Amino acid sequence: YLDFRYVKANLSKMRENVKNRNSSADPDAVARLYDDWVRALEELESVRADRNANARAMKGKLDPEKRSELVDQGKALKARLAVLEAEVEILEDALQREGQKLPNLSHPEAPVGGEDAARVLKTIGTPCDPGFKVKDHLAVGIALDLIDFETGATVSGAKFVYLRRAAALLELALCNYAMQKVASKGFMPMTTPDLVRESVLVKCGFQPRGENTQVYSIRDTSLCLTGTAEVPLAAVYMDQIIPEEQLPIRLAAFGHCFRTEAGSAGSASRGLYRVHQFSKVEMFVLSTPEQSEAMLQELCDIEEEIFTELGLHFQMLDMPTGDLGAPAYRKIDVEAWMPGLQRYGEVSSASNCTDYQARRLNIRYRPAMPDDERKGASKKPHKLPTEFLHTLNATACAVPRLIVAILENCQLEDGSVAIPEVLRPYMGGMERIQVP
Ligand code: AMP
Repeated sequence: YLDFRYVKANLSKMRENVKNRNSSADPDAVARLYDDWVRALEELESVRADRNANARAMKGKLDPEKRSELVDQGKALKARLAVLEAEVEILEDALQREGQKLPNLSHPEAPVGGEDAARVLKTIGTPCDPGFKVKDHLAVGIALDLIDFETGATVSGAKFVYLRRAAALLELALCNYAMQKVASKGFMPMTTPDLVRESVLVKCGFQPRGENTQVYSIRDTSLCLTGTAEVPLAAVYMDQIIPEEQLPIRLAAFGHCFRTEAGSAGSASRGLYRVHQFSKVEMFVLSTPEQSEAMLQELCDIEEEIFTELGLHFQMLDMPTGDLGAPAYRKIDVEAWMPGLQRYGEVSSASNCTDYQARRLNIRYRPAMPDDERKGASKKPHKLPTEFLHTLNATACAVPRLIVAILENCQLEDGSVAIPEVLRPYMGGMERIQVP
């Protein structure tokens, strides 16, 4: 379902996009393979037609010499057909593989460049000034017996964590709060499988193979562990046609995220900041192309409400082309101030993937009948062709970094941590995390 004709007709735009996005995809190779495939397909069709003509000519009475000539011709055509069918299959396979690597186009306003080119769109609140020296989340977590990486390392490996006591309750409270919040905004709450087929993952734009893959695979099966509930949510409507009247569809899921985090060691990954497994509440939207920009804003507004209610100081950033990841057309990140780490850290991300995932997952919508046609509907059947819809995803709550932000922003001079008010009902009314 990839639009290879569009790639061919817009090669210089595609080349520039690939360069801006730091992608190793090769639009020229895609265009070349497309031409070769079309040529082979045309020849296949023409040989098929010759073979049908040959078969027709063999019917009826023929003198033996003519029949023998046609039999030889038929054999030669059959052999040529077999060669061409194999060739078309190989070319189609190569075309699909090369085509899948192409990233989405980028929003014209997305800043061009690497991470440093991110543009601050909005700043909410100011850094808290507690009037004492703030400890980082790991020091607080250890002092309050909340974070146990040692047992995590023994049982599972480095960067796996046990959350203990109030931190375990805080994880569930954050997820409950976020699920309630998004449900109140019209998102259907769901819990989804944490294991998905590799083919589904690929259709969502993830790379389950290769040296630096972020994906864990289950040996001897076709299953992978999901890095985000975006994947099972995106696949809910795979291979379906949705009436336009039902769009936008808003879904949300609690799920576990598993990430190899290959190539991302370093001080920026300290403590809970980067772990191999974490919980997340994810929002997902299916919309018409006309609705998707407004839906991205709606997702950002919900994120803003959540982080404001949690009492965080944060900024919203228009992420640059080099940081978009293959499926995103535009990505807005939220970075919260983390006083212990003395920097802003990404806590959530919202992306408009336009029709990138829908094309791969084959999710279409049937445009609504225009009003003037609807009046004569009984006489005139609705014939508008189906189109690929747009998909969007956004984090409502990624637990570990919110725990980092809470432990660092809400600590008190006596070493305890004040629990944000909106979470207290989900923690049996607990107001503070104190030394046990
Ligand atoms: P992403 O799905 O990559 O956009 O990530 C969504 C959010 O999950 C990010 O904004 C982070 O808050 C969080 N996150 C991503 N990777 C990790 C990780 N390895 N450990 C903890 N949190 C993470």
